[in-house]
Amino acid sequence: MIHFVGAGPGAPDLITLRGAELLKTAGVVIYAGSLVNPALLELCGDRCEIHNSAKMTLEQVLSVMEAAERAGKTTVRLHTGDPCLYGAIREQMDALDALGIPYDDTPGVSSFCGAAAAACAEYTLPGVSQSLVITRMAGRTPVPEGESIAAWARHGASMAVFLSAGMLEGLQAELLKGAYTPATPAALVYKATWPEERVVRCTVGTLAEAGRENSISKTALVLVGGFLEPDYQRSSLYDPTFATGFREASR
Ligand code: SAH
Repeated sequence: MIHFVGAGPGAPDLITLRGAELLKTAGVVIYAGSLVNPALLELCGDRCEIHNSAKMTLEQVLSVMEAAERAGKTTVRLHTGDPCLYGAIREQMDALDALGIPYDDTPGVSSFCGAAAAACAEYTLPGVSQSLVITRMAGRTPVPEGESIAAWARHGASMAVFLSAGMLEGLQAELLKGAYTPATPAALVYKATWPEERVVRCTVGTLAEAGRENSISKTALVLVGGFLEPDYQRSSLYDPTFATGFREASR
């Protein structure tokens, strides 16, 4: 059995209880060494075999999984954040289907949640934005044309941009093609929830400069939108004049 597990954004106590239990009992762990906090591996038993997938191809990962399966061992495939975002899990799952090896998936705290927590921010502020765009700049992995940063930026919604901290000049230019202005607030969140965590607040117009000045070019999320500003409307849910299924309106 292969368990895909979300490791969370960095702090080792942000893995789920289920994920931690699976690590404790795993015979083999394959972890994404580029971003998973190695402190999580301390949960593994003494006899657990550990592989760093940053140095492996998909074929090598699969052959470790197959060998573990033949030996009757349980494998944990540990991905950073939540495996469902930029995790390359689908290709592993399809290959496991072809090999007849069963698997399941345990979610984790994605870094876009870790980054919001680091900035004490809410993406969905009434009167500001009720949507969050999770996207990336095109890199070696292409992005479909209709999903360019400029296309998303036309909505003026809250944005969490992954995998793009090394392309801040280009990102800034793309954002400015949409509804954002140079004054729209932005933040660079570096290694959210790790001890080295840093939140650099800036604007769309100063994004690239903020990256240069703070030497941030990887392991960071770029947050963009009016949700980083002080102005918003309070929620209807907790407004005394609004009735909800759980509470009557006070007048
Ligand atoms: N599955 C992961 C994302 C993997 S893609 C998740 O759910 O978070 C890798 C990208 O995620 C990095 O380039 C960076 O943009 C972002 N990232 C991962 N961990 C991060 C962290 N602790 N702080 C800020 N960004 C992070």
